[in-house]
Amino acid sequence: MMTKSSCYPWFDALWQHWLLRLSQKKLSHAYVLTGVAGLGKHQLLAQMAASVLCHRQTETPCGQCSACHWLSVQTHPDYFIAEKTGSIGIDLVRQWREICYQTPAVGQYKVMALPDCDRLTVPAANALLKILEEPPESCIWLLSSSHCAELPATLLSRCQRLTCPPISLDQGAAWLQEKFPGHARLLLIQALQSVSGAPLAAQQWLQTESSAQRGLFYQQLQQYFDKKVSSHAIYQALWPSLQDHLPCFLLAWVTDIIRAQELGEGAIINREYAGLIQQMSARMQRHVIWQWYDQLLILKKQAITHVNFGYWFLQWLLQLDKECHCE
Ligand SMILES: [Zn+2]
Repeated sequence: MMTKSSCYPWFDALWQHWLLRLSQKKLSHAYVLTGVAGLGKHQLLAQMAASVLCHRQTETPCGQCSACHWLSVQTHPDYFIAEKTGSIGIDLVRQWREICYQTPAVGQYKVMALPDCDRLTVPAANALLKILEEPPESCIWLLSSSHCAELPATLLSRCQRLTCPPISLDQGAAWLQEKFPGHARLLLIQALQSVSGAPLAAQQWLQTESSAQRGLFYQQLQQYFDKKVSSHAIYQALWPSLQDHLPCFLLAWVTDIIRAQELGEGAIINREYAGLIQQMSARMQRHVIWQWYDQLLILKKQAITHVNFGYWFLQWLLQLDKECHCE
């Protein structure tokens, strides 16, 4: 009996499809796993690789055979995975081209894994395309990407595409509720909404939310509105330490101001800071808040880089000065 569950419940249908192909020995030479960031595609990719390499076919992957053991200590002679950061260059693909046509050292297949394969440089993508045009017999390529629109269509056409379907807010919230039993469902939904509905990204968001960094953010804003610190001081206090989290914090804060303005104080999600949020909602013009909200959503969609968000944050502080302190 093969195991029916994948690493995360939202992958179960994909996983069963994969196991069926595996048991029928009908695997393609290359797969690309696509879907929004924060679903756990890297984990699924690793699970797929393990299922191909595991020596026992009774349960997949068994976790007990020598192949599973080698995988767990990262010494499997037929498993190759690109580093998870930085671009994937031509040198690596050339090196792997030598390897992938060789007979597997211990089992039936070699597996070459390229997580976040949109990091392939153009020459590297072209070199990979050449390999996939004459695919090696006993080798399976496993690719994943959260931005598959950036991949060359020719490369995509050589891969079997496995799309991770979007997860309903209900399913995401139910999974998060198990991780954060004390959190209000509304906060879980807000976390999901601010990260395109991806549960792992939402989990990370919530862990950040509950940390001291969130406190620092609200504390700085409070001091600013009490006219104890300048916008320049806010920048110095928040930017170096919080730049990764600022977009989320700002979006949560702006969303709460909108909720307070539209629905009243009772609708504020971040209850601990309800006083500050209420103060802001009374003070800020509705259209300005909505403008910030729209801008933050766009920035998030563009997969914010530090450079363009840093620029936005500086401009935003200047506008905040204009809106709040030049009365
Ligand atoms: Zn095994």
